[in-house]
This record gives sequence, C-alpha cells and structure tokens, in this order.
Amino acid sequence: MTVLLGCIADDFTGGTDLAGMLVKAGMRTVQMIGVPLEPVGDDIDAVVIALKSRTSPVEDAINESLAALSWLRHAGARQFYFKYCSTFDSTPRGNIGPVAEALMRSLGSDFTIACPAFPVNGRTIYKGHLFVGDILLSDSGMKNHPLTPMTEANLVKVLQAQIEGKAGLVDHAVVSRGAGAIRARFAQLKADGCNFAVPDAITNDDLMAIGAACADLPLVTAGSGIALGLPQNFRQAGLLPEAQAADILPPSGGLRAVIAGSCSIATQGQVAAMREKHPAFNIDPLELARGKDIAGEALAWARGRIEKEPVLFYATAAPDAVKAAQARLGTDKAGSLVEDALAAIARGIVALGVGQMIVAGGETAGAVVKALGVSGLRIGPEIDPGVPWTSAITGNTGARPLALALKSGNFGAPDFFLKAWSKLAS
Ligand code: ADP
Repeated sequence: MTVLLGCIADDFTGGTDLAGMLVKAGMRTVQMIGVPLEPVGDDIDAVVIALKSRTSPVEDAINESLAALSWLRHAGARQFYFKYCSTFDSTPRGNIGPVAEALMRSLGSDFTIACPAFPVNGRTIYKGHLFVGDILLSDSGMKNHPLTPMTEANLVKVLQAQIEGKAGLVDHAVVSRGAGAIRARFAQLKADGCNFAVPDAITNDDLMAIGAACADLPLVTAGSGIALGLPQNFRQAGLLPEAQAADILPPSGGLRAVIAGSCSIATQGQVAAMREKHPAFNIDPLELARGKDIAGEALAWARGRIEKEPVLFYATAAPDAVKAAQARLGTDKAGSLVEDALAAIARGIVALGVGQMIVAGGETAGAVVKALGVSGLRIGPEIDPGVPWTSAITGNTGARPLALALKSGNFGAPDFFLKAWSKLAS
C-alpha cells in the first residue's frame, strides 16, 4: 500500500469533510470508522481515520490518536494530518493541544502548524484571531456550545493554554508573501523556541501558500481547509499524478433503495418527492412499540417491487407526529426502535440484492453502517455539496460492492433521492 497522507479526524463528520476535500484535490481517499483492523486497498493515496475523540477524556483521546498514528505509519504514510473542527472546538484542557503534542513526540517532530481556517466556509484567521463569518469566534454561537464553549478568539492564546510547548503567530503580512516567506518565519519561530505556528489565513491562496510551506513537516494540524494545499506537494515530489480522477468507485450494480430515518426539513421534502415517483413503506414507531415485526413486513412488501425500481423505507414524519411518538414512548426509545428497524431492513435488502443504498440521517446512518459491518468508506463522486457516493469497505471480501450515500438530515436538494443514482456508474 502506498498511502501518502495519513489523517486522524477527531469526529466522523469532520473526517467525511476532509476526505471529500482530498478527493476533490485529486487524492484517492478512504475514510475508516475507527482504527482499522486490517490493511485497506493498495490504490489509495490518503486514509482518514475517523475517531470520536473531540470531547473524550484527554488520555483517551491521546491513546486513540496514537493507535491511529501507528496504523497509518504501518500503512507507509509519508505525512500525517490531525484534523479538528474549523471552529477549533476544544475543552479548556484540550484535546487539540495535548493530542498534537503526543503525535509530535511519537513522530520525533518538534514543529507543526495549527490552522483551522476555511475561508469558503467563513472561517478566517487574522492576527491569530479566528472569525466565524464577520464576527470573532468568541462572539459567535460557539461561546454557548454545550460541550466545547469557545470564549477566546485568539488561537495563539487558546493553544498556548493547552500545550506544554510554545505557540507563535505567522502574521498575514508574511503569509501573503507566499510559501518561502512562511517557511522563513517557521525557522524564526523555531529559533525562538516555538513548536506551533498559528498562520493567519483569509483566502484560499493563503491556504495554498501555507500548504506549500508545510511540505516537509511530518505532522500538520488543521481544519479541512489545508487539504487544498497539501496534494500539490506530493505532485511536485512526483508521488501523485498531475491529473487523476480520484472519485472512481468499483462498479456496484444491484438493486436500489433509500432508507430515511431523519425528520429534518430537507429530508421531509426529499421523502415527499420520492413518494410521488416510487413505492414507499412507512415505519411507525408506535407500531414498532407494539412489538409487530415491521422489518419483516417491509421486506415482504419490497419483494416484487424492488426488482423493478428504487424503493423507499421511511420513518420520516412531521414534527407533530414525532412529538406524539416521543411523548408516548420517550425520545430515546422512539429513536432506538426506529433505528433498529431501519438497520434490520438495511441488512434484509442487501440480502435481497440491493447494491446501491442511500441512508438519510446521521444517527440512522450510524445504525445502518454498524448493522452492515461497514468498517470504512471509499469516497466517490459528490451528489450534492457534502454528500458523496461511497463504496462500503467490509471484512467480507466475497461480498458484492455496496454503494452507500450517507446523508446528514439537512443536506441535499429536494430531488436528492431521485437524481443520486445517475452519479454512479452502474
Ligand atoms: P438527522 O441527521 O436529521 O438529525 P438522525 O438519523 O441523526 O437524523 O436522527 C433522527 C432520529 O429520529 C433517529 O434517532 C430516528 O430513529 C428518530 N426518528 C425517526 N423517525 C421518527 C419518528 N417518526 N418518531 C420519532 N423518532 C423518529
């Protein structure tokens, strides 16, 4: 396996975001759910290991991140990337600083950057201060985040409070002069005893220049923005082809189905649009609570229909119906009944021959992925912003390729469930 870039993301959706960016920048990428147990394919340029370490106790976050690093080193990665949120989401003790320092120690590296900037998404850094749109991080909604409240916008200060080493600023006046100037500033910071550089970045050009300046750093710590600038370094080193379609998936074929467990507004519109065109089976939590074998009924219903056209299984309901079910059953119970039923249906329809499946809802996707034994996703073509087709990686090497699109509840255009199939080579 010739992995070039080994990435560790501190949460799942952050990992998806980074993987999508790398594919767009021309790197063939897989996202693994947790530290993999076995090697992944040999035609991969970047691996993103998605952890759930953002808010775990610092020691756990460090240990999981080091385990991920060890796997990625084994896979031959030449450079490592610790990915966190573009709003630098962290508790006062970390986990960004302590994890970054543990990774550096393990790699024998004494210098890295910390750069959550992502200008196209409104995350810019000026004089070390992180802006969310037009306002400082500390004035944004992030100040009230339940798990990671961010009350200080000066990233040099935020990071300094989390690390044993020293952090310093790369001012925009330097960044705007390009990679050479940034590298010179890195050398100066190092001479001053700094281990972390916080570069200003207000445009994509800034990110490209910072990316170029990081070519020789063993570890980069950043949001997903810097992913724009790193692939070019591998091209210049002759390790990555100049132009390659990085989003090609193994042909999946098979039958088509949508599983919707999200009640978000976008999903409601998508369910309505699909119900007009294709057969649809509704899952009602109250019936599940009565102990009926709804998954069995759904699979029996699907036979004879799913062979002809895509079918929809949905628990998606209007807010009143959701509230009524939650009042009767409790929110958690209603959620888990629905998730379990949809997961059982997912398993059943794969056995019926489904090879292309869309799943709507974050929690729902988690339940389905677990039920199907999916350990990772190879990232393919984008359907709508932030939602790519993927190819499921499972331990079962004899299984037919399964194309999966995991859609966050509020993502995607109203015709998402109708148009998505055309983006796959069948
Ligand atoms: P989203 O990405 O929109 O937040 P999720 O799948 O993460 O979607 O969350 C939706 C939750 O609502 C899931 O736990 C799901 O099981 C639950 N749910 C779905 N349909 C209903 C319903 N009709 N009544 C109550 N809960 C439901």
